[in-house]
Amino acid sequence: SMSSPVVTRFAPSPTGYLHIGGARTALFNWLYARHHGGRMLLRIEDTDRERSTQGAIDAILDGMRWLGLDWDGDVVFQFARAARHREVAESLLAAGNAYRCYATAEELAQMREQARAEGKPSRYDGRWRDRDPAEAPAGAPYVIRLRAPTEGETVVEDAVQGRVTWQNRDLDDLVLLRSDGTPTYMLAVVVDDHDMGVTQIIRGDDHLTNAARQSQIYRAMGWDVPSMAHIPLIHGADGAKLSKRHGALGVDAYRDLGYLPAALRNYLVRLGWSHGDQEVFSTDEMVQAFDLKAVGRSAARFDFAKLENL
Ligand code: GLU
Repeated sequence: SMSSPVVTRFAPSPTGYLHIGGARTALFNWLYARHHGGRMLLRIEDTDRERSTQGAIDAILDGMRWLGLDWDGDVVFQFARAARHREVAESLLAAGNAYRCYATAEELAQMREQARAEGKPSRYDGRWRDRDPAEAPAGAPYVIRLRAPTEGETVVEDAVQGRVTWQNRDLDDLVLLRSDGTPTYMLAVVVDDHDMGVTQIIRGDDHLTNAARQSQIYRAMGWDVPSMAHIPLIHGADGAKLSKRHGALGVDAYRDLGYLPAALRNYLVRLGWSHGDQEVFSTDEMVQAFDLKAVGRSAARFDFAKLENL
C-alpha cells in the first residue's frame, strides 16, 4: 500500500562483471529507494552453482561501492536460502496448489517436438495435474509444478510497461522444484522478495514474462505482489542489444580508465530516464527528481562517444 515503507532490491546473478545494464538497474533501485526514504537491499542470486563465481561477486560489490550505491543490511545470498525455497514448494504441494509431475525427459521432448511442428511455443501439457502420484513407477524422479490457473488472465500492472495481460491458457504449469530438490529461479525470486519485504521490483524488461509467472506464485501463496517496473534494455548505437562490441565495459574498467563515479552515475541515469532537458545532475538532484514515470518504454541507446566526453 502507499503507506508501507519502500523496499527495493538489486538481485544480480554473479556470473560476470558488473556491466552497464546491471549498474543502471542498481542505480535505479538505489535512486527509487533513496527518493522515497526507503531501503535498497542487495541479493546475490548464486543458485546457479556452475556459473556463479566469487570473482563475479567481488566485482559486483566493488563496482557498487565505487559507484556509491550503498545497500541496506547484509548481502543476502540466494543459495543459502534453498531450504526455505523447498519449504514453500512443499507448502504449495500440501495445499494442493502444486503437484508432483513425473513426466519423463522423453515425454517432455515429445511435447516440445509437437509444439515445434505446430509452430507454437513449447508448453507442458499438464498431464500430471490430476493424476494420482501412486500411478508413477516406484522411485521415479519427479519435479514439483505450480497448479497454475488455466482460465482467465494474469495481469501485471507495470510502472513502465503499463498494464500487461497474459491468457492463462498460454502459461503452463511452471516447475518450482527440480527432481534433485533444488528450487528454480522463478520460485527462489518470489520467496526471497517476499521474505525480504520488497515492495518495488525494478529490473530489465527481459524479466517481464517472468513477472506473470512470479505473480502466479504470489497468488498461490496468498502473498501481496510487489509493484513492478520493467525497464527497457540498453541497446548499442546500431539498435542491437548492448554487448562488449559496442564498447560497453564492466564498471571496473571505467574506474580503471579514470572516469569519476559521479560522471558514470550521471551517464547511467540518463540511459532510460530523463528530467526535462537537464543533462547534468548532482547525486542529490538525481535523488530528488527520480521518478519511475519518467522512465521511457523504448530501449535506451548506449553511446560510447558521449561517455568519452564526460
Ligand atoms: N538475477 C536476475 C538477473 O541477474 C535478476 C532477477 C530479478 O531482478 O528478479 O538477471
